[in-house]
Formats: sequence, C-alpha cells, structure tokens
Amino acid sequence: AVVLGIETSCDETGVGIVADGRLIGEALASSMEEHARFGGVVPEIAARAHLESLMPCVGKAFAEAGVSPREVDAVAVTAGPGLATALQTGVAAAKSLALAWDVPLYGVHHLAGHVAADTLEHGPLPARCVALIVSGGHTSLLLLDDLARAPIRHLGDTRDDAAGEAFDKVARLLGLGYPGGPAVAKAALGGDPDKIGFPRAMPGSYSFSFSGLKAAVARWVERSPGDVHVADVAASFQEAVVDVLTAKAVRACRDHGVPTLVIVGGVAANGRLRELAAERCARAGVELRVPAPRLCTDNGAMIAAVGGLLHAAGEPASTFGLSVDPSAPLVRAAIV
Ligand code: ATP
Ligand code: MG
Ligand code: FE
Repeated sequence: AVVLGIETSCDETGVGIVADGRLIGEALASSMEEHARFGGVVPEIAARAHLESLMPCVGKAFAEAGVSPREVDAVAVTAGPGLATALQTGVAAAKSLALAWDVPLYGVHHLAGHVAADTLEHGPLPARCVALIVSGGHTSLLLLDDLARAPIRHLGDTRDDAAGEAFDKVARLLGLGYPGGPAVAKAALGGDPDKIGFPRAMPGSYSFSFSGLKAAVARWVERSPGDVHVADVAASFQEAVVDVLTAKAVRACRDHGVPTLVIVGGVAANGRLRELAAERCARAGVELRVPAPRLCTDNGAMIAAVGGLLHAAGEPASTFGLSVDPSAPLVRAAIV
C-alpha cells in the first residue's frame, strides 16, 4: 500500500511517501533558523511556517516518489504529542487530503513514528524488542511487541529532563547555540571524554535523570576561572549521557531476555551514542538497530511508516473528528 505521512509536531515540516514499507519520496522544511534568536521554538512561528511549507513539501514528495495522488491508499499524520498549533496545521491538511482522495486517515503518535523510522532502513521489527527513545522532549525505555496492535510497555522514562533537552541546555551554557545536540557533538570531537567525571545519575530500575548532570555542568563552568575548555566539557558531558543510556538499555535487554535493541529519536543521531551502543551490544550479544541520522530526527517518512503498519494490520482508521493531543501518552501507535 502507498501511504502519505505528515509530521508537524514541532519546527520540522515533514512529508514522506512509503510504499509497502519502503520509503519512495520525502520532503522536509524547517523553521529552526527563525527560532534561533529566541533560544527555543516559538509555537506561532512554527505553525505559520508549517502552513507555508506543507503543500510544497507534499508536491516535492510526490515528484520524488514518482506516484500520483490517485495511487495513495492512506494518509497518516502526527496527532500528538507536540505543540498544539503546530500539530493542528498537519492534522487539518491530512483530513483534507484523506477526504479529497477518499482514503482512510490514521492519527499517529509521534514517538511511535520515531520507532517506525528504523523499519524504513532495516525492515520489519522482530516480534519483541527493547526500544530506547531519546529525543528533544522524551527519554523512554520500552518493551515493544507488535507496534501496530499491541499496547506499549514503559520500562522507564526520564524523571526530569529529556536527553536531547540536556544537550540543548548544555549547549546554551557553553555558548554553542541552538539546536544544541549537533553543536555539542561537534565540540566534543576535539575533547577528552575522561577529563571531567560528571555524575552518572542511576535512579531506580530503568528510569533516567539528567537535570543533576546539567546542574553539574553549569557549576563546573561557573567555577572554572576564565579558561573553560569547551571541548573537554562537551566530551565529558556527552560521555556521561551516553554511558547511562547504553548501560540501562543493554541491561533491559538482558533482564527481559530480549535479543534486539532499537535506538531512535534525535539523540540517536549522536555518533558517540551509536559507537558505545554498538560496543556494548556486541559484548552482550544483543542485536543493535539504529536508523541513519536523517531518519533519527523528525521527518514525515516515519509517520507514513506507522500508517503503513496500521493499514497492513487492518487497524481501524481515525474519524474526521480526530483532534490533536499535545501531551499524548505513548500507549499505542495509533491516536484515533
Ligand atoms: P520529541 O520527539 O520528544 O517530541 P523533538 O521532536 O523536538 O522531540 P527530535 O527531532 O526527535 O526531537 O530530536 C531533536 C533533539 O535531538 C534535540 O534535542 C537535538 O539537540 C537532539 N540531537 C540532534 N542531533 C543530535 C546529536 N548529533 N547529538 C545529540 N543530540 C542530538
Ligand atoms: Mg526539531
Ligand atoms: Fe521527535
């Protein structure tokens, strides 16, 4: 089946077209630069940018896919979580397209999209896997069965900041700008990850906590007289984050006897996280799946991928009464 996916939960306008689980066309626009001078995403600016970019992105995705709108079997759209006004632009457009083309509409959970992104590169997920979602707003360790049908089990979540949020805040502390993840990763390349022993917060079971680490970095920067070696701070901070993430994820696989770990979300684009995860998974005999960096950050293809899974599983479509849910908990891939 051919599924068109739309993602507008934050500052990325994403459109993707997936045919039988394969990505055949996509387009991405971003209002990131318009938010930079505010130090964070401004909802009204993001929503306006989505309105301007969305239909041009749909056109580009079709051109790349080489299919016509008549060949689309379903439309999928992020219905939450995210910024309400931003989500609304995508949901309104998706409803209009589904109505015009007379095809089913699937409301999709953004984080299920992050997980499904991996299927576009590595094929269907195994019957059971552990998923680590590390993004700008979330950090969750999940036990996944059939993504389209089964309820999603949370092994642990962050108790305070998300991993990506920690990267963004530390980038600001170090004067590296916004968005912070890629900037910190780049700065860290020239630094010594063992230079500063930042704390590894290990709250109970599979939960995470990054606010103490962020505070420790702030304190360290404050106390260092004059010459803060940004590269060393960035590398040491990054090492503390990826150490905790990979240790807990691999332990979750071992404890639950699950042989596959999938790591997704914007922070999964981080080179050091990918490297350390590969090392520790190899040692533990766990198969590691991490999508290419461009599939880790927000995009429309991942939403189309979830739509494809829901459609193939014969799951009920959403109604045209579908509304956005800015703080949707991740219990199922579908939001009806
Ligand atoms: P959510 O998915 O939780 O709603 P989001 O959609 O805003 O949040 P994503 O697009 O998944 O987040 O990821 C963006 C986050 O990933 C940002 O916090 C960014 O700093 C971080 N990030 C991106 N690239 C890297 C990298 N190379 N290293 C570390 N962090 C990164
Ligand atoms: Mg973004
Ligand atoms: Fe995201």
